[in-house]
Amino acid sequence: MEIQDGLGLSPRKVTYLKYIFERKNPVRTNDIASRFGVDPSTITKTLSELAGAGLLTMAPYHGVSLTKAGRAYAEFLIKRHRILALALTHFGLSEEEACEEVSRFESMVSKDAVDCMCRAMGHPCQGVCGEITHDAGCLGNGR
Ligand SMILES: [Zn+2]
Ligand SMILES: [Zn+2]
Repeated sequence: MEIQDGLGLSPRKVTYLKYIFERKNPVRTNDIASRFGVDPSTITKTLSELAGAGLLTMAPYHGVSLTKAGRAYAEFLIKRHRILALALTHFGLSEEEACEEVSRFESMVSKDAVDCMCRAMGHPCQGVCGEITHDAGCLGNGR
């Protein structure tokens, strides 16, 4: 799955993909289920959809690992979160408030908008909850 507009994943999938990325691969399905308080069969279904999109692989008894495309997507998701959160701190929100607010709507913001905000803020390297990485899109070499 290529990152096109960045709007292809539901908020829940965004959360899982970021979680799997931040843990070291592979992550057991049951760990994800208990972390988010979701039924293991529901998690398996959602993860299968992500696997179907080419973002991760699932191995019985081992758990899930991100593919190269999955890692690239997760990096974008984390960048999106951090750019939006940083922008909100410029409007008076505390770092904690910004992170929390952004978590509610980040999955609805397009990649183009995020890249544009990244450029406008001068490609900051440090976000409120971690480093910000940049890609060809925000650096102006993309499509
Ligand atoms: Zn954050
Ligand atoms: Zn940038």
